[in-house]
Amino acid sequence: MARAIATLPGDGIGPEITAAARELLAAVGDFQLEEHLVGGASIDAHGTALTDEVLEACRNADAVLLAAVGGPKWDTTDPSAPRPEQGLLGLRKGLGLFANLRPVRPSAALLDASPLKRDRIEGTDLLVVRELTGGIYFGDSGRDGDRAHDDCAYTVAEVERIARVAFGSARRRVTSVDKANVMETSRLWRETVTRLHDEEFPDVPLNHLLVDNAAMQLVAAPADFDVIVTENLFGDILSDEAAMLTGSLGMLPSASLGDGGPGLFEPVHGSAPDIAGTGTANPLAMFGSVALMLRHGLAMESEAAGIESAIDRALEQGIRTPDLGGASTTEDVTRAVLASL
Ligand code: NAD
Repeated sequence: MARAIATLPGDGIGPEITAAARELLAAVGDFQLEEHLVGGASIDAHGTALTDEVLEACRNADAVLLAAVGGPKWDTTDPSAPRPEQGLLGLRKGLGLFANLRPVRPSAALLDASPLKRDRIEGTDLLVVRELTGGIYFGDSGRDGDRAHDDCAYTVAEVERIARVAFGSARRRVTSVDKANVMETSRLWRETVTRLHDEEFPDVPLNHLLVDNAAMQLVAAPADFDVIVTENLFGDILSDEAAMLTGSLGMLPSASLGDGGPGLFEPVHGSAPDIAGTGTANPLAMFGSVALMLRHGLAMESEAAGIESAIDRALEQGIRTPDLGGASTTEDVTRAVLASL
C-alpha cells in the first residue's frame, strides 16, 4: 500500500519548494500525498495556526513533510493574536517529537562556500541528535524581585530514549556532550548514556565531551565527529554552530522523531518572504528533508541515499540558486536533481 505523507507547505517559499518536493517524491516511489494548511495560511483560513483536524490528519499519516511558516503579514505584538510558529510548536507537542536530528554533510562542490577552510571541512559528515522536549526550556521558570530562575531537569527515561536514537543512527561513533563537571543533570545524562551503551549498544564506540570542548572541536576538527547526542539547550547551540559549516541555510534538512508515531521532516530555514514568488528559492534543504523522511520515517534507505547523491551530482554540474551565488531557478535545480536520480 502507498505510504501516506501529510504535506504542509505553509507560507512564503513553502508552497514553491513543496511543489518541487512532490515531483521528487513522484520520481522515487508511490506515495499518497495529502496537503494541509499550517502557519499563516491556516490563520487566514481558520484563525488558528494548526487546526485539530490537521493535527489529527498528521497523526494518521506515516510521515509529515513541512516546508516553512511565517511572514510579515502575521507579525504582531498583540499577545492574544495567533502566530504562525504556534503551528510548529503544536505539531511537535501533538506528535510527541522528542528527538531532533540535523545532519551536516557539506557537499564536495560547495566546500569553498563554508566559512572554514576547505581542508578543515573536507570529509565532514556528522549528525546532531538533540533532545527536544526536556531540560531547561521546559523546566519551571520565574522571577522573584531582582532574581530570575530557569530550572533544568532530566529523567533517566528521557535520556535513554534519546540515546537510543543516537546509537541507532551511528555509523562510526557516538559522542555524548554534557557539562558533567558542573551540572547534576549532566552527571545523570552521562551515567545513563554509559549504562545504556554497555547494555544495548556495546559495539558502538562511545566518547564523552564537555560542551565547551565540543564547541571548539566542532570548528577545529568537524570531520572527526559522527553522531553527537546532547540535551536541549546544548543541542540548540551546537546544531546551529554545526549548521554554519555548510555555509548556506538553503541546504540544511532536519528530522524530528517521536515514539512510534510519524516523524516531522522540514528544512532548517524559514519561509524566506523576501524571495517568495520569485521562483529562485533553493529547494535542496527540502529535498534533503525528503531524504531524511525516507530514511528515518519510512525505512527507505536506498531511495534516501539516491536523493542525496543526486543532489551532490546536480551541484557538481554547477547548478546554483542565488543564495549559493548562482542564477539557477527552483525549477532548474529540480530538473537537475531529477535528471541525476
Ligand atoms: P529565513 O530562513 O526565512 O530567511 C533568512 C535568509 O535566508 C533570507 O534572506 C532568505 O531569503 C534566505 N533563505 C532561506 N531559505 C532559503 C532558501 N530555501 N532558498 C534561498 N534563500 C533562502 O529566516 P527569517 O528571514 O529570519 O524568517 C522569515 C520568516 O520565517 C519569519 O516569519 C520566521 O518566523 C519564519 N521562520 C520559520 C521557520 C520554520 O518554519 N521552521 C524557521 C525560521 C524562521
